[in-house]
Amino acid sequence: MRKHEHTMDVAGDRLQGLYGLPLCTRSLTFHAEVKLRKDTMQSAQYHGDRTIRVGVSEPIAPGPGQVRLDVSFCGICGTDMHIYHGAMDARVQRPLTLGHEASATVIDIGPGVTNVVAGDRVAVRPMLFGEPSPFDKGHPHVGKNLKFIGIDLPGGMQSSWTVDAYTLHKLPDGLSFEHGAMIEPAAVACHDVRMGEVTAGETVVVIGGGPIGLLVGLVCLHKGASVILSEVNQTRLALAAQLGMRAVNPLTQNLTTIVERLSDGAMADCVFEVSGSAAGVEAMTELPNVRGRIVMVAIHPEPRPVNLFKFFWSELRLIGVRLYEEADFEEAIELAASGVLALDQLITEVRPIRDVQQTFELIDSSPDGIKYLIDCRGSA
Ligand SMILES: [Zn+2]
Repeated sequence: MRKHEHTMDVAGDRLQGLYGLPLCTRSLTFHAEVKLRKDTMQSAQYHGDRTIRVGVSEPIAPGPGQVRLDVSFCGICGTDMHIYHGAMDARVQRPLTLGHEASATVIDIGPGVTNVVAGDRVAVRPMLFGEPSPFDKGHPHVGKNLKFIGIDLPGGMQSSWTVDAYTLHKLPDGLSFEHGAMIEPAAVACHDVRMGEVTAGETVVVIGGGPIGLLVGLVCLHKGASVILSEVNQTRLALAAQLGMRAVNPLTQNLTTIVERLSDGAMADCVFEVSGSAAGVEAMTELPNVRGRIVMVAIHPEPRPVNLFKFFWSELRLIGVRLYEEADFEEAIELAASGVLALDQLITEVRPIRDVQQTFELIDSSPDGIKYLIDCRGSA
C-alpha cells in the first residue's frame, strides 16, 4: 500500500504516521494534539452488502453521566468482520458506526460525571448494562439486557464518540494510544485466563493463533504456565514461537503426541478453544488431563459433535467465556503498560479511516495479518 503523510499538528507536519510500516518502526502516539475540525470528523459506517462508507462523525453533546471522546485508534475485530460479512444483519441497525476496540481522549463531560476529567486518556469497555434481570444472577456483563456498543449502538470507529462515563478506563501515561486500542482484546484474554483458573507451572494448550489466541497465550505465559499453541497459518505459528510459545501445526504434526511429550505424560491442565473450527472442537477433548478445564472462547454459531465421554471419564470441565468485567480491563491495562503483551508485534498495520473499506477487504484476503488499527483522529 502507498505511504500516507499524516499531519496532526497545526503548526506543520512534524509528526508523521507512516502507514504501512510495521508499528515498531513508527513512533507511538501519546497525546491528542489538535482540536478536531468538524469537516474532518469521520466515521466508518456499515451499510450492508460488504459496504463500509466513510460518513461524518457528528459530535453529540454528552448527557448526564456521559462524556464525549476524541477517538485516536480503533481496532478491527472478528466481530466487525462478521458484521461486514452480513452475518449479523438481523441484529444491527444500518447504517452502523462500527468498532469497539478504541483508545481516546475525554473532551466534554456531561452532568454528574466524576470518574474522569477532560484531557484524560482512556480505553472504552463497550457495554451498556440494561435493567438487571434475575436471570443475570448479578453478572451484567453477559446479562439479558446487555447492549454491546459497536453492535447494538454506534461504535468507536469515528472521530467523535459519546459514551457513558462508567465504560471508561484511564490509560497510564506510558501507554500509547495504539496500545490503548489493544486493551479491549487484551481484556478478553485476561477474562478467559481468569475463568480458566490458569496457575503457574500448568500446561496450557491454545487452539487457534489469531489475536485473541495469541493474547490468551501471552497472559498464560505471564501467569507462569507453559503454552502450546496450535495453528495452521505459518506466519502466526512463527509469531507464537517468537513470543515464547511452543507452536504446533496440527496439519503436519500430531498435537496430542506433542502435548504428551512436552508435559511428561501429564497432558494439558487447561485447553482454550479459540479456533471456532470443527477440528478444534475435536482436538479440545483429546488434550486435558484428569479434571482438566476446557475454555470455550470461540463463537460456534451452530451445534457441533463433542466427545462427551471424555467429560465423564476424566471429570473434565467446560467453561464458557464471552466478554469481560471491569477487573479484566484493569488487568489488561496493567499488563499492557508493563510490556508483557508484546503489543507492537500483534499490531500488523495502522490505516487511516478513509481506507476503511479497503482495510476490511485486505483482512478478508490476507490470512497472515493479526490486528489492524484504524486511525480515527480528525485529520486521518
Ligand atoms: Zn472484539
